[in-house]
Amino acid sequence: RAKKDGRNAYRFFTSEMQAQSARALQLENALRRALERDQLSLHYQPQFALDADGGDGGYGAGGAARILGAEALLRWHHPELGWVSPAEFIPIAEATGLILPIGEWVLREALSQLRRWDAAGLPELTMAVNLSAVQFRHDDLPELVARVLGELGMPAERLELELTEGAAMDNPAVAITVMNELHARGVRLSIDDFGTGYSSLSYLKKFRVGKLKIDQSFVRDLTEDAEDRAIVDAVIRMAGALGLQTLAEGVETAGQLDFLRRHGCEAVQGYLFSRPLPAAAFAEFVLNGQMVSV
Ligand code: C2E
Ligand code: MG
Ligand code: MG
Ligand code: MG
Repeated sequence: RAKKDGRNAYRFFTSEMQAQSARALQLENALRRALERDQLSLHYQPQFALDADGGDGGYGAGGAARILGAEALLRWHHPELGWVSPAEFIPIAEATGLILPIGEWVLREALSQLRRWDAAGLPELTMAVNLSAVQFRHDDLPELVARVLGELGMPAERLELELTEGAAMDNPAVAITVMNELHARGVRLSIDDFGTGYSSLSYLKKFRVGKLKIDQSFVRDLTEDAEDRAIVDAVIRMAGALGLQTLAEGVETAGQLDFLRRHGCEAVQGYLFSRPLPAAAFAEFVLNGQMVSV
């Protein structure tokens, strides 16, 4: 097809493709050794519950925010390539199957960290861990999750697994079975990036999820874009009617926060409160200000 577009287009196409696949191949090879070479780490971003009343000042919108937990976010630092974004390496990890050992490492590391925070006297937090569709489809996910929780002596209720609409809708029948198994063991589930995928609303009530994470693309222009406001309002209302909680991602401004609070969004996460932090900085953040006035 590229060839029909003429000689220049063809040359552009091939050089672009070559550069892309050379980089992908380089990353793939490097990623194969990343785990054993200790190049992977987790950062933790705080998640907050919004209380509609009480408190003032702080971030400027009135009301209080109470820390609920952390979302574990994978980081890769390679000695020559530097920091590689998860947006670039997660798809490669998924395509090669490397996401299975990496995802298991993430689960164990995040829950180990939660146990260390418990021991250090932090309040009881939940740990949200992102799950790839590849992990979700893998046969022994519920057993793996139960095994890691058991090894660490961590109650299942402390773990929340985030999966995307795509992971769930790919094969809804299988998804329902896996969700039921995880739910039966006490693990919480949320839908990440909600609104960007192709969830069938009729499935939402069958999925054993407790929370919808409203994608940051709807939050970004909330104060300027009437359509985004309508979408976010509709998602919060629908979730409420279905007995689901909502957490808005990517909250950066007091104006966004104010809208979300007024429209009944239960929880938030974003740079307004904190960027994802290394474990020690996260603990410091929590110990210095559990109750944030917003
Ligand atoms: P996600 O799970 O939707 O994570 C939210 C992303 O938004 C994170 O990017 C986070 O750093 C960023 N973020 C948080 N607050 C704000 C904000 O206020 N403004 C803006 N502009 N961005 C904000 P990150 O860490 O680069 O991760 C990107 C994606 O990579 C994640 O999206 C998730 O899909 C994937 N990912 C990260 N860690 C893992 C993992 O351990 N396993 C799997 N399977 N996927 C992961
Ligand atoms: Mg997530
Ligand atoms: Mg998200
Ligand atoms: Mg995302």
